[in-house]
Amino acid sequence: MSDTNEAFGAGSPTTPISVMICENSAVQLRILSQAVREAGYEVQTAKSATDALEVMKLMPVDIFLTGIEVGEVNGLEACWSLKGNSDTESTYTIVVTASGEERRLEESLDAGADDFIRKPVNMTELRARLRAASRLVRMQKQFRHLAETDSLTGSANRRAFLQYLEMEVTRSERHGAETSVIMVDLDHFKNINDTCGHAAGDAVLREVVKAMQSCLRPRDMLGRLGGEEFAILLNGTDISEASTIAEEVRSSIEQRLIELPSGEKLSVTASFGVSNVCPALGQDTPETVLQAADDALYHAKQCGRNQVIVCAAEPDEQLAEAS
Ligand code: GH3
Ligand code: MG
Ligand code: MG
Repeated sequence: MSDTNEAFGAGSPTTPISVMICENSAVQLRILSQAVREAGYEVQTAKSATDALEVMKLMPVDIFLTGIEVGEVNGLEACWSLKGNSDTESTYTIVVTASGEERRLEESLDAGADDFIRKPVNMTELRARLRAASRLVRMQKQFRHLAETDSLTGSANRRAFLQYLEMEVTRSERHGAETSVIMVDLDHFKNINDTCGHAAGDAVLREVVKAMQSCLRPRDMLGRLGGEEFAILLNGTDISEASTIAEEVRSSIEQRLIELPSGEKLSVTASFGVSNVCPALGQDTPETVLQAADDALYHAKQCGRNQVIVCAAEPDEQLAEAS
């Protein structure tokens, strides 16, 4: 998974394109990888499709360049497998075909290969094909970024946030990793619109997002759920660490002096609810985890706003309290 806070922060369309090269001949692999690396790509190599698939499953790449006879699983089956998995389906695949394998070109394209190149590989042609592939990969990334980003603030939009939360809750349950969520709602935001105008309200939302992002790690994800309501997903983070982060975010918002389009300056505050994936508390789906954070946020509002409330005691603590 790429770094989410960075992906939805400044964003970097200039990150190098990554290529996995799969060839069973060590000599061929060395020649190809050197040429592709020298052309400015980030290169990984594998001697078999099985090894390549294993790596790409954990860390998807942009382009998969593979021979056909590359072990027990052949290159075409590997293309098919990539296209059948939602994490890797956008990988651009190029099949390298040996002479005598021409009849397999049709098979390659049917197997989901996006392009092919004949052996012996002409390096000028390979570089040209990689450039064409890179243009498509970058365009695809831009479309995805647009579809997943809130246009006002640059944070993830609601749909992208909920999708990512769903993935992380499943991952958390499967691997027992800690996952926490913070819900954030600006305090008395309507007053800003009413007294300073909608454009001022928009400027505040943009600045608040910057204040929040400055406290987050690259792997955290900030999403705008709607209006002046945000959520932060912290994977690999237990509830006590999440509560500390929420407090840092709260303070960062409070301390930021925001300049409005009129030149006027003001500061705002927000209220926070923190929860985590915790099956023992019935928080084992995106909806229940968010609901727990929302309930805590509601309490933060009730208790006077500009504060962090954590959803409930940990089950261990509850047991200790009950005994
Ligand atoms: P509370 O402390 O209880 O959360 O009060 P509040 O005023 O923040 O909450 P309320 O739900 O009453 O008002 C939210 C306001 O957010 C109302 C709506 O006009 C405004 N809003 C929603 N989306 C946008 C937006 O994109 N831009 C601007 N400027 N305002 C927005
Ligand atoms: Mg509000
Ligand atoms: Mg609200």
